[in-house]
Amino acid sequence: MKITVITIFPGYFSSPLSAGVVGRAIEAGYLEIETVDLRDFTTGFHRQVDDAPYGGGAGMVMMIEPLAKALAPLSETVRVLMTPAGKPLDQEMLDRFATLDHLTLVCGRYEGVDERVVEHFIDEEVSVGDFVLPGGEAAALAMIEGIGRLIPGVLGNDQSIAGESFRDSLLAEPHYTRPADYHGWKVPEVLLSGDHGRIEEWRASQRLERTRRRRPDLLD
Ligand code: SAM
Repeated sequence: MKITVITIFPGYFSSPLSAGVVGRAIEAGYLEIETVDLRDFTTGFHRQVDDAPYGGGAGMVMMIEPLAKALAPLSETVRVLMTPAGKPLDQEMLDRFATLDHLTLVCGRYEGVDERVVEHFIDEEVSVGDFVLPGGEAAALAMIEGIGRLIPGVLGNDQSIAGESFRDSLLAEPHYTRPADYHGWKVPEVLLSGDHGRIEEWRASQRLERTRRRRPDLLD
Protein backbone atom coordinates (compact mmCIF):
# COMPACT_ATOMS: atom_id res chain seq x y z
CA MET A 1 0.00 0.00 0.00
CA LYS A 2 1.11 3.54 -0.69
CA ILE A 3 0.16 6.63 1.32
CA THR A 4 0.96 10.06 -0.10
CA VAL A 5 0.98 12.89 2.43
CA ILE A 6 0.67 16.49 1.31
CA THR A 7 2.14 18.83 3.89
CA ILE A 8 4.21 21.97 4.37
CA PHE A 9 6.29 20.01 6.91
CA PRO A 10 7.53 16.86 5.11
CA GLY A 11 10.28 16.36 7.71
CA TYR A 12 7.65 15.93 10.42
CA PHE A 13 7.11 12.27 9.56
CA SER A 14 10.62 10.84 9.35
CA SER A 15 11.32 10.01 12.99
CA PRO A 16 7.95 8.53 14.02
CA LEU A 17 7.72 6.48 10.83
CA SER A 18 11.10 4.89 11.43
CA ALA A 19 9.94 3.32 14.73
CA GLY A 20 7.97 0.28 15.79
CA VAL A 21 5.53 -1.83 13.79
CA VAL A 22 4.96 0.75 11.08
CA GLY A 23 8.68 1.46 10.77
CA ARG A 24 9.23 -2.23 10.15
CA ALA A 25 6.30 -2.39 7.71
CA ILE A 26 7.89 0.38 5.66
CA GLU A 27 11.30 -1.23 5.78
CA ALA A 28 9.86 -4.59 4.69
CA GLY A 29 8.01 -2.98 1.77
CA TYR A 30 4.41 -3.53 2.97
CA LEU A 31 3.86 0.21 3.14
CA GLU A 32 5.31 3.11 1.19
CA ILE A 33 5.01 6.66 2.50
CA GLU A 34 5.55 9.51 0.08
CA THR A 35 5.66 13.00 1.57
CA VAL A 36 4.92 15.79 -0.87
CA ASP A 37 6.05 19.31 0.04
CA LEU A 38 3.16 21.61 -0.81
CA ARG A 39 5.60 24.49 -1.28
CA ASP A 40 6.97 22.69 -4.37
CA PHE A 41 3.71 23.68 -6.07
CA THR A 42 4.09 27.42 -5.43
CA THR A 43 5.54 29.96 -7.83
CA GLY A 44 6.65 33.05 -5.86
CA PHE A 45 10.02 33.63 -4.23
CA HIS A 46 8.48 33.17 -0.76
CA ARG A 47 6.84 29.85 -1.72
CA GLN A 48 3.64 31.10 -0.12
CA VAL A 49 0.78 28.63 0.40
CA ASP A 50 -1.58 30.84 2.43
CA ASP A 51 -3.41 34.12 2.10
CA ALA A 52 -5.81 36.33 4.07
CA PRO A 53 -9.43 35.17 4.27
CA TYR A 54 -12.11 36.82 2.14
CA GLY A 55 -14.53 38.58 4.44
CA GLY A 56 -11.76 39.41 6.89
CA GLY A 57 -11.04 37.87 10.25
CA ALA A 58 -8.08 36.36 12.03
CA GLY A 59 -5.66 33.84 10.57
CA MET A 60 -4.72 32.74 7.08
CA VAL A 61 -6.26 30.23 4.68
CA MET A 62 -4.42 27.71 2.49
CA MET A 63 -4.78 28.80 -1.13
CA ILE A 64 -6.42 26.60 -3.75
CA GLU A 65 -3.70 26.78 -6.41
CA PRO A 66 -0.84 24.85 -4.76
CA LEU A 67 -3.28 22.26 -3.41
CA ALA A 68 -5.00 21.90 -6.79
CA LYS A 69 -1.66 21.34 -8.49
CA ALA A 70 -0.59 18.80 -5.88
CA LEU A 71 -3.91 16.95 -5.83
CA ALA A 72 -4.90 16.86 -9.51
CA PRO A 73 -2.32 14.17 -10.45
CA LEU A 74 -3.57 12.07 -7.52
CA SER A 75 -7.15 11.76 -8.78
CA GLU A 76 -6.83 7.95 -9.01
CA THR A 77 -6.23 7.77 -5.25
CA VAL A 78 -8.67 8.30 -2.39
CA ARG A 79 -7.96 11.86 -1.28
CA VAL A 80 -8.62 12.57 2.38
CA LEU A 81 -8.47 15.96 4.07
CA MET A 82 -7.61 15.97 7.77
CA THR A 83 -10.02 18.45 9.39
CA PRO A 84 -11.88 18.89 12.69
CA ALA A 85 -15.03 19.18 10.56
CA GLY A 86 -14.56 15.68 9.16
CA LYS A 87 -16.10 12.34 10.02
CA PRO A 88 -14.69 11.09 13.35
CA LEU A 89 -11.99 8.48 12.72
CA ASP A 90 -12.77 4.99 13.98
CA GLN A 91 -11.54 1.44 13.54
CA GLU A 92 -14.07 0.69 10.82
CA MET A 93 -12.71 3.55 8.71
CA LEU A 94 -9.15 2.36 9.24
CA ASP A 95 -10.15 -1.17 8.19
CA ARG A 96 -11.60 0.26 5.00
CA PHE A 97 -8.62 2.53 4.25
CA ALA A 98 -6.23 -0.41 4.83
CA THR A 99 -7.75 -2.22 1.82
CA LEU A 100 -6.78 0.58 -0.60
CA ASP A 101 -3.76 0.51 -2.89
CA HIS A 102 -3.12 4.23 -2.67
CA LEU A 103 -4.40 6.81 -0.22
CA THR A 104 -3.63 10.53 -0.15
CA LEU A 105 -3.74 12.52 3.09
CA VAL A 106 -3.86 16.31 3.02
CA CYS A 107 -2.59 18.15 6.10
CA GLY A 108 -4.07 21.57 6.68
CA ARG A 109 -2.40 24.41 8.58
CA TYR A 110 -3.48 27.93 9.56
CA GLU A 111 -7.32 28.24 9.56
CA GLY A 112 -7.61 25.36 7.10
CA VAL A 113 -7.96 25.10 3.32
CA ASP A 114 -10.00 27.12 0.80
CA GLU A 115 -13.38 25.32 0.66
CA ARG A 116 -13.13 24.91 -3.13
CA VAL A 117 -10.32 22.41 -2.53
CA VAL A 118 -12.77 20.26 -0.59
CA GLU A 119 -15.46 20.62 -3.24
CA HIS A 120 -13.26 19.68 -6.20
CA PHE A 121 -10.30 17.61 -4.98
CA ILE A 122 -11.29 15.80 -1.78
CA ASP A 123 -13.13 12.48 -1.49
CA GLU A 124 -13.45 12.30 2.29
CA GLU A 125 -12.90 14.55 5.30
CA VAL A 126 -11.63 12.91 8.49
CA SER A 127 -11.27 14.22 12.05
CA VAL A 128 -9.22 12.54 14.78
CA GLY A 129 -11.42 13.97 17.53
CA ASP A 130 -13.35 16.90 18.88
CA PHE A 131 -10.36 19.15 19.48
CA VAL A 132 -8.23 21.47 17.36
CA LEU A 133 -4.62 20.68 16.47
CA PRO A 134 -2.32 23.29 14.93
CA GLY A 135 -1.98 21.15 11.79
CA GLY A 136 -3.10 17.95 10.12
CA GLU A 137 0.26 16.20 10.40
CA ALA A 138 -0.35 14.54 13.79
CA ALA A 139 -3.80 13.49 12.56
CA ALA A 140 -2.30 12.02 9.36
CA LEU A 141 0.32 10.22 11.43
CA ALA A 142 -2.40 8.64 13.58
CA MET A 143 -4.08 7.41 10.39
CA ILE A 144 -0.83 6.04 8.95
CA GLU A 145 -0.01 4.20 12.18
CA GLY A 146 -3.55 2.85 12.46
CA ILE A 147 -3.63 1.70 8.84
CA GLY A 148 -0.06 0.40 8.65
CA ARG A 149 -0.57 -2.24 11.33
CA LEU A 150 -3.68 -3.57 9.53
CA ILE A 151 -1.93 -4.38 6.27
CA PRO A 152 -1.87 -8.18 5.94
CA GLY A 153 1.52 -9.58 6.96
CA VAL A 154 2.57 -6.57 9.03
CA LEU A 155 1.56 -7.97 12.42
CA GLY A 156 3.09 -11.42 12.72
CA ASN A 157 0.08 -13.01 14.38
CA ASP A 158 -3.34 -12.19 12.89
CA GLN A 159 -4.95 -13.21 16.17
CA SER A 160 -3.53 -10.11 17.83
CA ILE A 161 -6.00 -7.92 15.94
CA ALA A 162 -9.00 -10.15 16.73
CA GLY A 163 -9.29 -9.45 20.48
CA GLU A 164 -8.42 -5.78 20.32
CA SER A 165 -10.49 -2.83 21.46
CA PHE A 166 -13.29 -1.87 19.03
CA ARG A 167 -13.53 -5.38 17.55
CA ASP A 168 -17.06 -6.69 18.25
CA SER A 169 -17.88 -3.21 19.69
CA LEU A 170 -15.94 -4.00 22.86
CA LEU A 171 -12.90 -2.62 24.67
CA ALA A 172 -10.05 -5.05 25.30
CA GLU A 173 -9.68 -6.73 28.69
CA PRO A 174 -6.93 -5.63 31.14
CA HIS A 175 -3.52 -7.27 30.71
CA TYR A 176 -0.91 -8.38 33.25
CA THR A 177 2.63 -9.72 33.12
CA ARG A 178 5.33 -10.73 35.61
CA PRO A 179 5.70 -10.49 38.54
CA ALA A 180 2.49 -12.16 39.74
CA ASP A 181 2.78 -10.27 43.04
CA TYR A 182 4.27 -6.77 43.09
CA HIS A 183 4.51 -5.54 46.70
CA GLY A 184 1.18 -7.19 47.45
CA TRP A 185 -0.60 -6.10 44.22
CA LYS A 186 -1.64 -9.40 42.77
CA VAL A 187 -2.53 -10.55 39.28
CA PRO A 188 -6.09 -12.01 39.16
CA GLU A 189 -5.83 -15.63 40.26
CA VAL A 190 -7.69 -16.98 37.22
CA LEU A 191 -4.86 -15.87 34.91
CA LEU A 192 -2.41 -18.09 36.83
CA SER A 193 -4.75 -21.09 36.88
CA GLY A 194 -3.70 -22.58 33.53
CA ASP A 195 -7.40 -23.29 32.87
CA HIS A 196 -7.83 -21.85 29.36
CA GLY A 197 -11.62 -22.16 29.43
CA ARG A 198 -11.89 -20.11 32.65
CA ILE A 199 -9.32 -17.61 31.38
CA GLU A 200 -11.26 -17.04 28.18
CA GLU A 201 -14.49 -16.67 30.12
CA TRP A 202 -12.86 -14.13 32.47
CA ARG A 203 -11.47 -12.16 29.53
CA ALA A 204 -14.84 -12.07 27.78
CA SER A 205 -16.60 -10.86 30.94
CA GLN A 206 -13.92 -8.19 31.51
CA ARG A 207 -14.33 -6.93 27.96
CA LEU A 208 -18.08 -6.59 28.43
CA GLU A 209 -17.87 -5.09 31.94
CA ARG A 210 -15.22 -2.50 30.97
CA THR A 211 -17.18 -1.47 27.90
CA ARG A 212 -20.36 -1.15 29.92
CA ARG A 213 -18.63 1.07 32.50
CA ARG A 214 -16.38 3.17 30.24
CA ARG A 215 -17.97 3.22 26.80
CA PRO A 216 -21.63 2.24 26.97
CA ASP A 217 -22.07 4.06 23.64
CA LEU A 218 -20.17 1.22 21.92
CA LEU A 219 -22.73 -1.32 23.10
CA ASP A 220 -25.58 0.75 21.62
N1 SAM B 1 -10.06 26.81 11.82
C1 SAM B 1 -10.24 25.40 11.95
C2 SAM B 1 -11.48 25.11 12.78
O1 SAM B 1 -11.79 25.87 13.68
O2 SAM B 1 -12.09 24.06 12.53
C3 SAM B 1 -9.02 24.76 12.62
C4 SAM B 1 -7.81 24.77 11.77
S1 SAM B 1 -6.48 23.92 12.51
C5 SAM B 1 -5.73 25.17 13.45
C6 SAM B 1 -5.34 23.66 11.19
C7 SAM B 1 -5.41 22.30 10.55
O3 SAM B 1 -5.13 21.29 11.49
C8 SAM B 1 -6.72 21.90 9.94
O4 SAM B 1 -6.90 22.45 8.67
C9 SAM B 1 -6.60 20.40 9.88
O5 SAM B 1 -5.89 19.96 8.74
C10 SAM B 1 -5.76 20.10 11.12
N2 SAM B 1 -6.57 19.63 12.26
C11 SAM B 1 -6.79 20.31 13.41
N3 SAM B 1 -7.56 19.61 14.23
C12 SAM B 1 -7.84 18.45 13.63
C13 SAM B 1 -8.61 17.30 13.97
N4 SAM B 1 -9.26 17.21 15.13
N5 SAM B 1 -8.67 16.28 13.09
C14 SAM B 1 -8.03 16.34 11.90
N6 SAM B 1 -7.29 17.41 11.51
C15 SAM B 1 -7.20 18.45 12.36
